[in-house]
Amino acid sequence: MINDVVIAGAGPNGLMLACELSLAGAHPIVLERLPEPSREPRANGLVGQVVRMLDRRGLYERLSGSKEPPQPAPGYVFGALGLDLAMLEDNPVSLLPVPQARITQVLAERAVELGVEIRHGHELADLDQDDDAVTATVAGPDGSYRIRTRYLVGADGGHSVTRKRCGIDFPGVTKDDTVSRTVNAHPPAAWVDPAAGTLDVPGYGVIPLIMHHRTERGMFAFAPLPGREPLVTTMEWGEPEDGDRPMSLEEMRESIRRVLGVDMPLSPPNGDGPHLLRRLTGGNTRLAERFRDRRVFLVGDAAHVHSAIGGPGLNLGLQDTVNLGWKLAAEILGHAPPGLLDTYETERRPVAERVVMHTQAQSALIAPGGEVTALRELFTELLRDRSTVQRIADLMAGADIRYDMGVPDAHPLVGRWAPDLVVRTDTGTVRLAELTRTARPLLLDLTEDASLVRALSPWGDRVDLVTARPHDPEPPAAALLLRPDGYVAWASSRPDDTDVESLQVAVRRWFTL
Ligand SMILES: Cc1cc2nc3c(=O)[nH]c(=O)nc-3n(C[C@H](O)[C@H](O)[C@H](O)COP(=O)(O)OP(=O)(O)OC[C@H]3O[C@@H](n4cnc5c(N)ncnc54)[C@H](O)[C@@H]3O)c2cc1C
Repeated sequence: MINDVVIAGAGPNGLMLACELSLAGAHPIVLERLPEPSREPRANGLVGQVVRMLDRRGLYERLSGSKEPPQPAPGYVFGALGLDLAMLEDNPVSLLPVPQARITQVLAERAVELGVEIRHGHELADLDQDDDAVTATVAGPDGSYRIRTRYLVGADGGHSVTRKRCGIDFPGVTKDDTVSRTVNAHPPAAWVDPAAGTLDVPGYGVIPLIMHHRTERGMFAFAPLPGREPLVTTMEWGEPEDGDRPMSLEEMRESIRRVLGVDMPLSPPNGDGPHLLRRLTGGNTRLAERFRDRRVFLVGDAAHVHSAIGGPGLNLGLQDTVNLGWKLAAEILGHAPPGLLDTYETERRPVAERVVMHTQAQSALIAPGGEVTALRELFTELLRDRSTVQRIADLMAGADIRYDMGVPDAHPLVGRWAPDLVVRTDTGTVRLAELTRTARPLLLDLTEDASLVRALSPWGDRVDLVTARPHDPEPPAAALLLRPDGYVAWASSRPDDTDVESLQVAVRRWFTL
């Protein structure tokens, strides 16, 4: 028997891919080497367009507990410089402060609801490809076995066995000149002013909460995230003096003394934990030389690793999976147009390159030294300009992406992430995000006589066809054809549009053999 897809790794990206494949009608199996879900504290939240993407699958509500749509964040940081996002008319940065273990749990629950088989304690050990399938060798709890699958996706993290077994190089840099420490701990309560959003450190001054704060000697942050034990973080440059010694609150206190130049008493966290006491030396910035080797694909950290500064990892990785999922399912179900699978890499590699670029730029901006201080002064001036803030916000959110849809002189929305239009249908007022929960292609026809929907009726089994009236009297488009990943494949601005020919070309290009 040949399976549809085997995914190596039940981290957030492997599970999200499994959900996308299932929604599109394929049957993935997820292999996870750990016997049970990891509780390792990693991401503290999601930053950027991914938050709105999760809303388009109904997952934002599960993660945030709110029925309201995601809201733009009033501010954020770039390289420990404040970004005043409230000045933007079109602010693409949404934040979802949910820890990675919870994100993984919600995605696993959703995958199981959709019928995905997750095999814990099953490690991908090796793989071999022929013309028809991939043969994976798996080390399971009852010994080694083989499994045949049409496609295999490595979502197995930065040390990806999948990537190594395919001989895909992972070029980039490894830096060993930084030491970052993070603990769950409480500074004196009297120092914290939640209303002002500040930590007032005697002898040093006022430090904004949550934001990275650079000094000439390092970086400090205090983040009292809701419903969690607060996080205290430092970053210093140079060799770690503490070597192999287990990390401790006392070591953190010494680090803060070096970075801020004052003493900060730290009380241990409450509850049973697990609590964070982490020291990390150095870091990697690497991009796989290819994201695909014939029947094998890489997503998430298996394809790219970079500094965690600004929290872009899951914005990138989860959107890799939403890009790949529907394409791979179409190939498995036999209706993918030629070359569709190749667009995974052509579309996602430039996005990964931009994340590598901006995390390296941010790392440079937080380093110590007078030249960096001068650079920061210049950046601070530039960040008073709305256009600069917009550009950086778009970069961090991943909202500056425009995929090539192969349409010359296209409508400005073509290739872009579709805005969350509010429309009135026969059944009531809905947001576009609510219409995309099926993860299917969607034609949203706001034209006067709905002739576009009629023209696509032969494709009704492939494309969701929705006629509606715009809520906004001047909507950005009169009709939109969306790919399942939320990007606009075709759009028209004419309310009386009857140009069904270009629409049909777009449908054939993306959705039908
Ligand atoms: C300290 C830190 C802080 C971070 N903060 C943020 C943040 O705030 N926001 C953000 O968006 N990102 C953040 N990131 C990045 C984010 O954690 C990663 O991008 C994310 O974990 C990548 O998910 P993944 O599913 O690709 O890989 P992983 O999470 O690494 O999951 C891979 C899974 O594959 C399994 N596996 C490995 N090998 C095999 C095998 N051979 N067979 C079967 N299973 C295997 C592993 O056990 C694991 O469960 C942070 C990272 C770090 C280290």
